[in-house]
Amino acid sequence: VNDRAILINAIRDIPDFPKPGIIFKDITTLLSDKEAFGVLMTHLHDRYVSYDLTHVAGIDARGFIFGSALAQMLGVGFVPIRKKGKLPYTTVSEKYSLEYGVDEVEIHIDAFSAVEKPRVLLIDDLIATGGTAYAAANLINKVGAECIEACFVMGLDFLSGQSKLRDIVEVYTVIGV
Ligand code: IMP
Repeated sequence: VNDRAILINAIRDIPDFPKPGIIFKDITTLLSDKEAFGVLMTHLHDRYVSYDLTHVAGIDARGFIFGSALAQMLGVGFVPIRKKGKLPYTTVSEKYSLEYGVDEVEIHIDAFSAVEKPRVLLIDDLIATGGTAYAAANLINKVGAECIEACFVMGLDFLSGQSKLRDIVEVYTVIGV
């Protein structure tokens, strides 16, 4: 991305959140900065405008922010992939393992049923181990859509998450950190 420095500088590091030893990448400072948010969204629009997408699917919760903005810019629909128990209609779900324990994400069973051949971009703010995105990409396929690419504002390149995810979908990260 051009203006990589603008994006890097707009993302804030929060040490010891949500627990000691973790440096949390805080994107709220990027969102409130109209120049940085604009640079990011223009970059994503320009990358994906030629992909012939039908939907953008965002991961709970920061993926909703980037995903819904991008969906509108591309003139396609938006679909939320949520943590278990949040979606009101019939869902399909996928479990994934965390460092300690398991988590689960869900999608509405009819999320893409309005179009014949759904072509979906998956988006989230950050990929770490890739477990969340791997489960989310599987969900998109389970409900009969094609996940064309998985896109992240940031990738933690020292973790192996991206290579595992690449087994099932193309992966693009705007900035590696
Ligand atoms: P993964 O499943 O290990 O790849 O973790 C990615 C998920 O955790 C995404 O939904 C991210 O939003 C969230 N996440 C993990 N670390 C951070 C961080 O430092 N900043 C923002 N989100 C994070």
